[in-house]
Amino acid sequence: MRAYDIIYKKREGKSLSAEEIKYLIDAYVKGDVPDYQMSAWAMAVFFQGMNKEEIAHLTMFMAESGERIDFSFLEGINVDKHSTGGVGDKTSLVLVPLVAAAGVKMPKMSGRGLGHTGGTIDKLESIPGFKTNLSRDEFLENINNHGAAIIAQSGNLTPADKKLYALRDVTATIDSIPLIASSIMSKKIAAGAKGVVLDVKTGSGAFMQEREKSKELARAMVDIGKQLKLKTIAVITNMEQPLGKYVGNALEVKEAILTLKGKGSKDLKELSLTLAAELMIISGKTNDFNKAYKMVEEILDSGRALQKFADIIAAQHGDARVIENLSLLPEAKIIYEIKSNKDGYVKKIDAREIGLIAMNIGAGRETKNNNIDPAVGVVLNKKVGDKVDSGDVLAELHLNNELLRNEAAERLKRAFIISKKPAHKNELIYDIID
Ligand code: URA
Repeated sequence: MRAYDIIYKKREGKSLSAEEIKYLIDAYVKGDVPDYQMSAWAMAVFFQGMNKEEIAHLTMFMAESGERIDFSFLEGINVDKHSTGGVGDKTSLVLVPLVAAAGVKMPKMSGRGLGHTGGTIDKLESIPGFKTNLSRDEFLENINNHGAAIIAQSGNLTPADKKLYALRDVTATIDSIPLIASSIMSKKIAAGAKGVVLDVKTGSGAFMQEREKSKELARAMVDIGKQLKLKTIAVITNMEQPLGKYVGNALEVKEAILTLKGKGSKDLKELSLTLAAELMIISGKTNDFNKAYKMVEEILDSGRALQKFADIIAAQHGDARVIENLSLLPEAKIIYEIKSNKDGYVKKIDAREIGLIAMNIGAGRETKNNNIDPAVGVVLNKKVGDKVDSGDVLAELHLNNELLRNEAAERLKRAFIISKKPAHKNELIYDIID
């Protein structure tokens, strides 16, 4: 078999066989197929697409390219949740303890933030002492004792995806649905999930800006799940404005704790409960969504999920007193208020811009090697649809470097569009695909 023939076949719009895809992936990981041929192939896929079978084969061979974790010794079915990335998205911090408190096992491997989107691992590491690099034994012991543990993705999972993703990043082939869908699902399969709920975000702060494209991506991932026998549900959600009110690492942990105490933002609570309810369905607790939603809502209201979060934090060497005393989380030295200079209604808050502002003041990283400041970020005092009077505080900048203030403040003000007429608020959950 030759890489040239496989590239040519895809360029001509033909489907590739399982053997051809396996050859290409294996040879690429070994270094026998060079980056220039793999980029030509990725570009051919970008323009010609792939059918369902090809996407499933690509996913499987990428999953098989490295280590695979086997959680079959755990009782019941272990589940996972994956978000395609957004701004202010701290749902994992709410739903992992929630689902674990409902008796479902959640061994979770999460990522760090990159660009305008945040990552669960960075958020958790803002809790003093919290360790995200547990040994394998400790990870498994914590799952047995508490139902959940959250660690940074490490080891040799899906090396094919790591290599191909880096190549796609520099060859303008990231936004291809077969390549994104197989990249995400291969990691879930290698990480040993038996069921996965996908939060596919759409809008200015998301990776996919158009709703139809997001739906196509969701469908491709659900189809992979069907072909590879991984129970999969995708929820398409609104990422036009940030989720909740807090953007930045320690700030998001704070909002997650407030939500577990019943004092958080409505949208964050609704999305966390919806995704948790879908996880209940996937794990076989019930197949009735309303029942599942009620089940997780009761657990949240009872405080059991909050206690579970405290247990998870303590088991991962973190200071669980943060649950009762939020001031133990890192706090920024400077809080600068952004005020409205007109009356009206908030029509739009550009999620992507808020994510970029937070990144620029130190909450995120532009490249993989940047350090982050856990304390800094943005707090939104107003959200889309809210009435605003001139002089009201729209948002706060939490920062540690005075020199970054003026530019960030200007941009933050411009990220808010205020209209005279009452503004229409889009739904939070657009669609559920299973
Ligand atoms: N996230 C992934 O893991 N892979 C992609 O290709 C895009 C987003």
